[in-house]
This record gives sequence, C-alpha cells and structure tokens, in this order.
Amino acid sequence: MSEFKRVHNFNAGPSALPLEVLQEAQAEFLDYKGAGMSVMEMSHRSKEFEGVIKTAEADLRELLSVPANYKVLFLQGGASLQFAMIPMNLRGAGVSADYVVTGTWSKTALKEAKKLGASRVAATTEATNFDRAPEAYDFDPKAAYVHFTMNETIHGVEFFDTPAVPDGVPLISDVSSDFISRPIDVSKYAMLYAGAQKNAGPAGVTVVILRDDLLERVPENLPVMLDYKTQAEKESMYNTPPAYSIYMVGLVFKWAKKQGGLAAIEKVNREKAAIVYNAIDNSGGFYRGHTVPEARSLMNVPFRLPSEELEATFAKEAKANDMIGVKGHRSVGGIRASIYNAVPVASAKALADFMAEFQRKNG
Ligand SMILES: *Cc1c(COP(=O)(O)O)cnc(C)c1O
Repeated sequence: MSEFKRVHNFNAGPSALPLEVLQEAQAEFLDYKGAGMSVMEMSHRSKEFEGVIKTAEADLRELLSVPANYKVLFLQGGASLQFAMIPMNLRGAGVSADYVVTGTWSKTALKEAKKLGASRVAATTEATNFDRAPEAYDFDPKAAYVHFTMNETIHGVEFFDTPAVPDGVPLISDVSSDFISRPIDVSKYAMLYAGAQKNAGPAGVTVVILRDDLLERVPENLPVMLDYKTQAEKESMYNTPPAYSIYMVGLVFKWAKKQGGLAAIEKVNREKAAIVYNAIDNSGGFYRGHTVPEARSLMNVPFRLPSEELEATFAKEAKANDMIGVKGHRSVGGIRASIYNAVPVASAKALADFMAEFQRKNG
C-alpha cells in the first residue's frame, strides 16, 4: 500500500489530475531531466523550456488532430479572460456577435461581450432552467461569430452535435470542462478555448486553438497582452508564460496519448457517466438529474435529492467517506459530481454505491 492518501475527487475545478502525472512531476521536481533545477526555476527562453512548450503543443495537435492552419496558444487570465478577448479581437467595430446561452458560463460570456459591443442571443434555454441544448437557433447570417459553451460545467449540459451555423460564420466554443474528454472535429470550429484546471492540468494556463484567418480581424490598437496576433507571432512567449502550468498540461497530454488517445478516453468517460446516471435513474425518483437525457454531460453530473436538508447531509456524509467536492455550485444548489478524465472508474462506482446506501438509509 502507498503511504499517502488519495480521495475520490469529484471537484469541479481545479480538479483531479492523473496520479501518474503527479508522480512524474514529483520525480522531476528537483532536477528536470538533468538540468539541475525545477521547471519552475528555469528561464522560459531556455532550450529545456522550449522543449517543454513545443512538445506540449505537438502532443495536443496529435491528440485532437489539430489541422496545420490553426495556432495553439497558451495564455493566462483563465477562460474568463477569453470572454473579453474574443469580442475585442474578433468582432470588429459595428458588427454584432451571436451567443447561444445554455447555462452560467455562456451567460457570463455574453455579459462580457455586451460590455464591449453588440451581441445577440441566438438561442437560450433559460426558460427551462438550462437543462438542455437548444432545439432551434435564430442565427444572424452577418454575425461576426457564434459563441457557445460545449459543456456547461454548472448545469451539466453538453453538446454532442455542433450547432449548424450559417455558411461562413465562424463558430467559437468554450470547451473548458470537456477539453480532451472525447474526440472532436476541430475543423468545424474557428476557435476553441479551455481553462486547463478542469480536465487538462492545474490552474494558470488557458489553451486557445485558433484558425489562422481569424488573426486578420485583430485590430491594431489592442493592449498587447490581449492581442491574439501578438500572442501567436510570439508563440505564447511575448512575456513570461505560466511555465509550470504549461509543463503540467504537457504531462497530461502525454498521459492522454498513453491511454490510447481521445477515443479510448471517451470510452472510459462514458462508462463512468453511465455508472453515475444509472444510480440516478434506478433510484425511483429519489435522485433527480438536472439535465434532459440527450444533453447529459459526461463530465459534470448535477442532481437533486428530495430536500435541501438531505442534500446537505449527503454532501457531509460523502465527505466523511472520502468523496470530495460533491456539493452543487452555489448558484444552483443540489449535488454535482464532476467525473473528469482523471477520475477513475472506481471513484464513479464508489459514488454509485454510496448513493444507493444513502437512499436505503434516508429514502
Ligand atoms: C470554469 C469555467 C470557466 C471559467 O474558467 P476560469 O479559468 O476560472 O476563468 C469558463 N467556462 C467554463 C465552461 C468553465 O467550466
């Protein structure tokens, strides 16, 4: 047995990282591949770090089959800064952008975009409390772009089909919480972005995948740190990048490749999601999932119990059983289990067993 403790980690973000990745980082912590120092201590202009960032990019390109005409950027400011950078860089003066609103994160993206210029709602599911993907869209054929959130981390709504946008309108997606959780066709999107701390690494780096032609839209007068063109020209190294976080996402990309790539990862993710959703569906209504079955997220599973009191007891007892992070987001309440790539099948099983036992005692 190991001498350290590992909980069942259902945190929404920052969240579980693969144990193998943490162990590899630990082994290299004091002396990175014979450099005699930690990645944290080395110049970001050194040969060693150049290897770290280039390898991370190459591994991601391989994992997601990123076409050659896309840039991969490693930026700071979280996915939240992208909410502002996207309209600043890509909307253009006097042009409107379309937003698909399916939960807290897309709503927040829209709010930021509105501060900076014209923005339109092309579809919203707020009337049903963000429990599904939209059934229909009202796209503006002249929109600068369409923005949607592929997986709503708080409401547990995931898109498994790409919204059919009008010809020539770039489609942009926030994939923060389902990044590298399953294969996607990057060529359908003009831009994808993900804060790393949900599924791909520690906080501090945001991965942006951006089609080259969008860079032609970037206005001249932007603050340099907010300018995709400069960040692309300088290969994410205009200033000091979040070097250690980039190193960590690089280890996660390598780990994902070792699992057999994204198709193999998706298979495990579907297995875990089925275990947890079955526990909900087989409870005779004691547990109630938030999301309609077709849009159930493979990553975040929000559900309710018969009362808020029982929900509080559930979260407390789960914690006492080393199941961490199941309390729902403060904005929606209830329970939420995040079952990202690094959460093992055994944790999903432990949760399902706990749910059945809790119901037996309290149902
Ligand atoms: C967590 C999250 C964000 C915000 O990410 P930060 O990196 O904290 O800014 C945005 N979108 C989605 C889908 C998220 O899950």
